[in-house]
Amino acid sequence: MGYSVRPPRLAGGKANDTRILKSINVLAVLEVLRSASGLSRADIARATGLTPATVSSVVSILISAGIARETGLGESGGGRPPVLLEFNPDAFHIAGVDLGVSKVIAVVTNLEGQVVSRARLEIDAHAGPEAIVSRLLKATHTAFEAAGAVASRIAGIGLSVPGLIDAERGLSVFAPNIPGWANIHIVRRFRDEFGLPCWVENDARAMAIGEAMFGAARGYQNILCVNVGRGIGAGIIVSGEIYRGKQGGAGELGHMTVDPNGPMCPCGNHGCLEVMAAGPSIAAAAIRAVSTGASTRIRELAGGRIEGITAEVVSDAADQGDALAQGLIRESGRYLGIGIANAVNLLSPEIVVIGGGVARAGDILFDEVRSTVQKRAFTTMVNLPPIVPSDKGEDASSIGAAALVFEEMLAVGRITDLMRAGGTRADMNGP
Ligand SMILES: [Zn+2]
Repeated sequence: MGYSVRPPRLAGGKANDTRILKSINVLAVLEVLRSASGLSRADIARATGLTPATVSSVVSILISAGIARETGLGESGGGRPPVLLEFNPDAFHIAGVDLGVSKVIAVVTNLEGQVVSRARLEIDAHAGPEAIVSRLLKATHTAFEAAGAVASRIAGIGLSVPGLIDAERGLSVFAPNIPGWANIHIVRRFRDEFGLPCWVENDARAMAIGEAMFGAARGYQNILCVNVGRGIGAGIIVSGEIYRGKQGGAGELGHMTVDPNGPMCPCGNHGCLEVMAAGPSIAAAAIRAVSTGASTRIRELAGGRIEGITAEVVSDAADQGDALAQGLIRESGRYLGIGIANAVNLLSPEIVVIGGGVARAGDILFDEVRSTVQKRAFTTMVNLPPIVPSDKGEDASSIGAAALVFEEMLAVGRITDLMRAGGTRADMNGP
């Protein structure tokens, strides 16, 4: 391979894959630094509400990591002129790899989530775990090669996989729709291949982390991120912390019952949100309508082949004004709205971000989701959270996986800080 890999070290910290609670303070300082350049430590203290001592210690971690740098002196307010700081988004780079049912995507980004290089490979979900892992590794190698000189400055790799994960052990435990995929030591495989620190996260949670750090939910502390594609999953951020639940089982919004008499879901329940609103249900409803001779351009857009009808085709037809297609997208949006209204009642998020293939349906879908949530969510009496699309398209989970690396590196930075200060905190050892 035409690149070498050597992880940058943060503040002399030891990069490892121990899951650690992220540092809200570090992220708060970072958020302010990213919002404007030429800020002093005192400006940051005012903006974050942190004490000057905390800001100084956080800034020193960020400076030693190269993430923040001093740019000169500001205006003196009478005493010593303040040292001005700026964020350095190219201090190091991060990589994210996303496993989907039909494709894998690997990206290399800077610390603003800007994609430097990208590789996308089709996969056959039935090819078996070993073949799929080698496609994941290949896509990553391709993205690293395309990154050129930047590849030597990649700090780590985040892995986004569907289904259940065991973050502690770096395992992809189970992925629905990928036959035979069980207990894959995905982190070990990547670490052995690339010699970099690696982390794994569920795809919807990776998307939520990416939206929080680099996307539509930036600056919010309470976030619901919904991934609507072949399945439906949610990433939940509460008070700035990703919420995983017991054994990582949180966020299964797709299996919330929205119609007790609805069709059976592969999970065994009836009327799950996923069977009412996800991509395959949109496609199946379109195929039923086309088969009964309904007036629509859907078949034509599918190249005349009924088996070519997918949710994307329905979405394209809806875009072109096809009334039947628009009705199907609205129907999906209505059920999605019911599910999101229930989640809003439970969580009271500040913002809801919707990503995934179905989210590409745009305003037709979002208008229906918004009006349904407005009608059904109790907390709209207080305030209705904005419901917005992800702007990252199909890269949302891979960019989110890269964001996971950044987040984990910052957490490692905080540990060394606490160790230097002689402080010990039980929660720093992870769950
Ligand atoms: Zn289900």
